[in-house]
Amino acid sequence: MMSTLLLKNAELVATFDNEQREISQGSIFIRDNVIEQVGKTNDLPQEADQVIDMTDHVVLPGLINTHHHMYQSLTRAVPLAQDAELFTWLQTLYPIWGGLTPEMINVSTQTAMAELLLSGCTTSSDHLYIYPNGCTLDDSIEAAETIGMRFHACRGSMSVGESDGGLPPDHLVENEAAILKDTQRVIESYHDANRHAMTRVGVAPCSPFSVSRELMRDAALLAREYKVGLHTHLAENANDIAYSKEKFGMTPAEYVDDLGWVGEDVWHAHCVQLDDHGIELFSRTGTGVAHCPCSNMRLASGIAPIRKMLDAGVKVGLGVDGSASNDSGHMMSEARQAMLLQRVGFGPAAMTAREALTVATRGSASVLNRDDIGYLAPGMSADIIAYDLNAIGFAGGLHDPLAALIFCATPTVNYSIVNGKVVVDEGRLTTVDLGLLVSRHNELAKILVNG
Ligand SMILES: [Zn+2]
Repeated sequence: MMSTLLLKNAELVATFDNEQREISQGSIFIRDNVIEQVGKTNDLPQEADQVIDMTDHVVLPGLINTHHHMYQSLTRAVPLAQDAELFTWLQTLYPIWGGLTPEMINVSTQTAMAELLLSGCTTSSDHLYIYPNGCTLDDSIEAAETIGMRFHACRGSMSVGESDGGLPPDHLVENEAAILKDTQRVIESYHDANRHAMTRVGVAPCSPFSVSRELMRDAALLAREYKVGLHTHLAENANDIAYSKEKFGMTPAEYVDDLGWVGEDVWHAHCVQLDDHGIELFSRTGTGVAHCPCSNMRLASGIAPIRKMLDAGVKVGLGVDGSASNDSGHMMSEARQAMLLQRVGFGPAAMTAREALTVATRGSASVLNRDDIGYLAPGMSADIIAYDLNAIGFAGGLHDPLAALIFCATPTVNYSIVNGKVVVDEGRLTTVDLGLLVSRHNELAKILVNG
């Protein structure tokens, strides 16, 4: 059964399409999960199976999150990890994360996704790299299916424990052969290469300081055999650079170049300390960057040279990063922080509001190697968000409703449509009971942290 959905009378439809059209009094006509028409309300069909009146709303493509660790929602604001830099922060939290269970992965993933969906995100990547007590990537994929979010699930891993010079405790690392075997299993079970896919799988050893050179190399071979994405953390802070130079005798950019971890199918989180050679390498090879400004500020990692990367033609997307180093999963707010942080580092012209939104939509889509999401046009997936311009945060900001999303305090979305399905309707999630979800999440968080 084909069904149609019409979003009509929007104050503004910001398409982010190739002409960067911003249509006042706009409408969008959707058939099943695909956009069929975008234009002036008067020029589009007036009826559909379902019609949503978007009067006083600004409508735009759903934001795309390129880096997260959703399980960390259980360990936000843990007192001992509040004021540390990356390595100390990790060493404080690893033992707590060792108590994760499959239910905790499922519930925290749903919780993180609920927060993302309400904040304007319709597609998210997640990087799960810790698998104690029978946890599997299946637990988070099931959560995405329940809540109705488009999902890039990355099979993370750690294989070098403390006794071998790595950062994680020995009991939390996995055997490398087992990692590769399970990664192959989840690709074969869940990865959908088709256009408009709701589930894709990526191969994602955690970081150069928690896996071996051999695993990095084998992971790349496996990903290319199956034509799936490759993801890891890179050049996050000064200690990360020092580790790379001491352990491998190379900068992070030289290390990934040496291992074949560059190309259109690869994206690296952070890259705060990526040097000019790295920027040139990433630009030349089409390698993507997941920029995570809140986490970089929270852990005092530094200011990523995003202006420089964009000018050099590097693919840059936005990520909220794990919930224990942000500790907010608000995508529109993250785009705001991206703009503000570039200005702190490089001046008031370093990033505009529209550039921040472009990074969070088209930029993120290119980083995830997708050509079916990130802008509104016929043939694109129907992933669409709408904010009510009558919210208090926008009062007085309607001179430029689109820029107001970034300059002002943005509330939760009033509507979110994912793959043609209304997942947030008048500000409420339609797929899960948010009250029950948060209450179970908080019970599990207490059990995990207090033992
Ligand atoms: Zn991360």
